[in-house]
Amino acid sequence: MDLGLKDRVVLITGGGRGIGRSTALAFAAEGAHVAVLDTDSDAAEAVMQEVRATGLRGVAQRCDITSAEDVGCAIGSVMEQFGRVDVLVNNAGISRDATLLKMKESDWDLVMDVNLKGTFHVTRAVLQQMKDRRWGRVINIGSRSMFGNFGQTSYTASKMAIVGFTRSLSLEQARNGITVNTVAPGFIETEGIKSHVNYPSLREVAIGKNPVGFLGAPEDIANTVAYLASEQARYITGTTVFVTGGRFSS
Ligand code: NDP
Repeated sequence: MDLGLKDRVVLITGGGRGIGRSTALAFAAEGAHVAVLDTDSDAAEAVMQEVRATGLRGVAQRCDITSAEDVGCAIGSVMEQFGRVDVLVNNAGISRDATLLKMKESDWDLVMDVNLKGTFHVTRAVLQQMKDRRWGRVINIGSRSMFGNFGQTSYTASKMAIVGFTRSLSLEQARNGITVNTVAPGFIETEGIKSHVNYPSLREVAIGKNPVGFLGAPEDIANTVAYLASEQARYITGTTVFVTGGRFSS
């Protein structure tokens, strides 16, 4: 199926590694130009070199999405270079796990700032030009753990909030040719998750609990995001697509 993404301009937050990196490469494979915002500018630049090697345009911007000022500068630069953003993938996300009684306020704030407020900053910065052109796609990365996970009150609250953000924004933009959806991954083996202190045991448990009996790869998420960005997905908005291997519970 031709997804019709050739020459689209796609902006991905946290695209320097993991799911964001795979998403950048999936869009490039479809002929789209890509811009990546990431706190790790070297990683983002390395991904963009891979995109540029295919003959497409790839722009890496160092940006902390918790800062409205950083986001303003980065989006300004992307707009200067591409003139538009057709597809926004709000992928950057973090967790700072602890049970609530042990959770530091600063960790709670950081998770909310990156996962929720960062999404607000970046979406607001690109939305008007999508509305003016009456076409756009906003795809937010949620998480299966929005159903609840031990030790993740902040993370699950932030990801559930993303679902609410998605639903309300989809209604606001439905008449403007802009669709807004959440993709909720299950356990995906990325650098982020591999750096977890309990990674080997987490992995074993996750495989055991997964109905399909294996763990997802970043490409499983990237391919879903690319489909939601396509013209074929024009009637899908305000929803959450679970890419979890059939697992829903904690
Ligand atoms: P990774 O940690 O592997 O990559 C995230 C990227 O985002 C990193 O490059 C990181 O940069 C960047 N980033 C972090 N904070 C910011 C910020 N403030 N501004 C800009 N960029 C930032 O994550 P994953 O690929 O595993 O996850 C991607 C998304 O998918 C997240 O939203 C996550 O919550 C979600 N998800 C992941 C699952 C999984 O199993 N992997 C499961 C369910 C959801 P740096 O290296 O500098 O920190």
